[in-house]
Amino acid sequence: MINKIFRNPYFLTILQIVTLIIFALLIYGAIGVTTDDKNFAVVLRNTNLSNLIVWSYWWPFIIITAILFGRFWCTVCPMELITSFAGKIGLKRKPGKLLKSGWIITIFYAIILILGIHTFAIHRIPQLMAVYMLILFGVAVVVGLIWEKRTFCTHVCPIGHLLGFYSMLSFKKLRVKDATICEVCKTKDCISKSNRYKFIGRSCTSDLYPAKITDNRNCILCGQCFKSCTKDNIAIQNRKFATDLFTNIKLSWAEISFFFIVSGFVVYEVLSEWKVTKKIIMTIPDFVNHSFNISGDIKGTVKAIILFILIPSIFYGVLAILKKIISKEDLKKSFTQLVITILPITASMHLLKAILKTTSRIPYWNFVFTDPKGVETAQSIITKSEVLDKTIIVTLFPYISIIAILLSLCGLILSLLIIRKQQYQNKISGIISIFAVLLYSGVFFTTLIFWRLI
Ligand code: SF4
Ligand code: SF4
Ligand code: SF4
Repeated sequence: MINKIFRNPYFLTILQIVTLIIFALLIYGAIGVTTDDKNFAVVLRNTNLSNLIVWSYWWPFIIITAILFGRFWCTVCPMELITSFAGKIGLKRKPGKLLKSGWIITIFYAIILILGIHTFAIHRIPQLMAVYMLILFGVAVVVGLIWEKRTFCTHVCPIGHLLGFYSMLSFKKLRVKDATICEVCKTKDCISKSNRYKFIGRSCTSDLYPAKITDNRNCILCGQCFKSCTKDNIAIQNRKFATDLFTNIKLSWAEISFFFIVSGFVVYEVLSEWKVTKKIIMTIPDFVNHSFNISGDIKGTVKAIILFILIPSIFYGVLAILKKIISKEDLKKSFTQLVITILPITASMHLLKAILKTTSRIPYWNFVFTDPKGVETAQSIITKSEVLDKTIIVTLFPYISIIAILLSLCGLILSLLIIRKQQYQNKISGIISIFAVLLYSGVFFTTLIFWRLI
């Protein structure tokens, strides 16, 4: 079924056009809806239809699909459509070393997280969310107009590394059906220069050769190579979960640094769901903000830098250096091993956060269609003239608690299995990896047990 859809010349493009229209409507629904009141914004983020869809359903949907099935969001992403179109009519310059390094993706993501979300609250103020989405579209167009192929997707998109990491877990992969057919294939339509800017059936503009794809990270499942391959030799195939993590994955420094941020962010996201652990995790940022008399929005910036950059860098840095010193391993290899082993726990907890978010927002659906802008509803909820019916949240609580514990255990077990397969210079290096995994997953497990079960 999936392969039929991917081979169809128009279906995916039509889906991209549909998502483009939906995005335009979401932006329209958020423009003009703003506030300076932080307490009001906390409610408004859920009562504004656009904001509710983008942050509580669309974004969790991307995370869940990437972990389970791979980069299927990219298949229908409207930005791919517009950046590819801009690339077709643009200057077609070759990307330089900096773009190719992957650092632009990491820095772009860090800016959105630290400044966008934790300083200016683009996730809470609909108008700022609309501006953010317009900026993303603008950058996709400009990058497309300047650089060749699909440079925005390959080297700029702020969630590129995130989707790449999580897609290594997925049950699906895009590969050639028979590599020997590719060996004798004379036309090589899937990478041919002449197909590069076709509207339908482009050769791969993500710098991949389908016959040589070894892991899921960089294939954005755009489906263009399906249509370009005249031998019908490409297919989406099933595979065992997390297969890529048991192979010899090589990460760039940009990817390693990106993972530090994500793993710190996921700790914050899950622990801040419960007021007890939120207080604990905020101890250091609050202390720093208080000691330096920092106030206003900058407090959020300081918090994000400490929790998403400093603490994860110390955690991974100390352990990787220890591994290197004790085992005489290459430093990059030490970091890579730690990242790959901890990835399943981060992904499982990100999945949990997605579930918590989507389910906790169900009560707001009672209001968003009668008041899509959400300002009046937010006022009514704050003044208590409108009461949220939280029956569904209470009903789901025990089920989500069980899912939460199972997810944390699955993440831990997968991480330990990866450690068993990894090659270590000596036993101590492996023990350090086990220690890292137990410490990182222990933070989640303890929180979940005390929060959900006791
Ligand atoms: S890489 Fe980013 S812009 Fe490109 S298709 Fe995927 S999500 Fe969309
Ligand atoms: S066009 Fe098809 S058969 Fe030829 S190299 Fe590409 S994937 Fe293989
Ligand atoms: S190999 Fe390239 S063209 Fe084929 S689906 Fe992946 S990104 Fe698209």
